[in-house]
Amino acid sequence: MQLSFELSRKGRKAYTLPDLDVPEITIPKEYLREELPQLPELSEPDVIRHFINLSTLNHHIESGFYPLGSCTMKYNPKVNEYLARLPGFAELHPLQSEETIQGALEILYELENLFIELSGMDAVSLQPVAGAHSELASLLIMRKYFDKKNEKRTKILVPDSAHGTNPASTILAGFEPVEVRSNEKGLVDIGHLNELMDEKVVGLMLTVPNTLGLFESQIVEIAKIVHKKGGILYLDGANFNAFLGIIKPGDMGFDIMHFNLHKTFGTPHGAGGPGGGGVGVKNELSPFLPVPRVIKKIKNKYRLSYNFPDSIGRVHSFYGNFGVCVKAYAYIRMLGAEGMRRVAENAVINANYLMSELKDYYDLPYSGPCMHEFVLSGDRQLKFGVRTLDIAKRLLDYGFHPPTIYFPLIVHEALMIEPTETESLETLDSFKDALIKINQEAEKEPEILKEAPHKTPVSRLNELKAAKDLDTNFYK
Ligand SMILES: *Cc1c(COP(=O)(O)O)cnc(C)c1O
Repeated sequence: MQLSFELSRKGRKAYTLPDLDVPEITIPKEYLREELPQLPELSEPDVIRHFINLSTLNHHIESGFYPLGSCTMKYNPKVNEYLARLPGFAELHPLQSEETIQGALEILYELENLFIELSGMDAVSLQPVAGAHSELASLLIMRKYFDKKNEKRTKILVPDSAHGTNPASTILAGFEPVEVRSNEKGLVDIGHLNELMDEKVVGLMLTVPNTLGLFESQIVEIAKIVHKKGGILYLDGANFNAFLGIIKPGDMGFDIMHFNLHKTFGTPHGAGGPGGGGVGVKNELSPFLPVPRVIKKIKNKYRLSYNFPDSIGRVHSFYGNFGVCVKAYAYIRMLGAEGMRRVAENAVINANYLMSELKDYYDLPYSGPCMHEFVLSGDRQLKFGVRTLDIAKRLLDYGFHPPTIYFPLIVHEALMIEPTETESLETLDSFKDALIKINQEAEKEPEILKEAPHKTPVSRLNELKAAKDLDTNFYK
């Protein structure tokens, strides 16, 4: 495929300007550029075809199954996009006066309340704009809480199965991450937690279900251990779609949690966003939430209030990514309480179905039942010299996005599969068939896998080079 610069022909254009109907002025020379910009010159059909063709080169959820574990790449209803683009939302200016944005503030207020209802927390801020960002905001809240109590605590406990953002946020917030071991079932090793938990520990960051797709069945015991030493129990809520509408984190003993709007609540992600986050807290931590907070005054008037003297301050400009909040609001209201529950049930059923269909062909180090995702190991295929990377690349030839690979780190040759709730039985079956076929290929013709993918616009890329040696300039 040619680049737009290569398609360029001098004099072609894709615009028509009206006749000048204002006085002509001469722009002073110092404001003019010396050389004309080097822009491609193309007709409108050329431009449209170019971008449509480009859009089909990459795999996306609208073109096929995307079981990327931990990422929840589900299909998000397009009505959310339509609503977020309504001029009354999309054309608001963040510096408008509060009287003129009452509708937007009402949406934010109501959405916070929906999250309070779903999570069992007492207060919510939707200012952070990603999961990792919400982790940082939460850790700063925890820091302020202990500062206020004049307690010097320095350590955050993080299970060895945790997402990499957990230890990274911990360090950014100025704490020291300490790893908690998983036991042979893939759950928190209670003995090790007991050993590590002392008065120097700020809290435990726990992912439920964890990244192996397993529910922490000892959550009540874990909460007791953490609370007995005055620590805070934090929920990494990126996997909330596994138990949404069924149980509330607030009832399970969590003091603080984050939400991923672009995973669980109706916003597409990838391609750099925009995404959305949020932090929910129990009353004791609510004075520290970021400002401004949306408050409701008498006569249904909404305001942005900065009057929270113990707040950690701002973590983002204005009030986060408002458009993403509109999508989350539409999504939750459209599905209702019953629909939220079905999201979780279907996410779990789909994952268990795939897991049970595949466990005879791939190693399953931590046996189920699983929640919304599960982790296979490619160790059996490795005996034929085929790596998990090769299996992932070969899946592209069958029209599927690969699962997450080599994560979580505690599983050798990991393949982390999250089918999500939005896929049909037929899609799950064709994915299963592809993985079974690939298993046969691994044994009989491993070379095919090692050179895969064969059918994509480009084959194996040097992924490291793209990150380390990024060059987006066309002209040298
Ligand atoms: C995705 C994810 C995060 C990070 O969320 P982002 O929105 O990508 O920053 C944290 N923890 C877990 C378990 C996740 O899956």
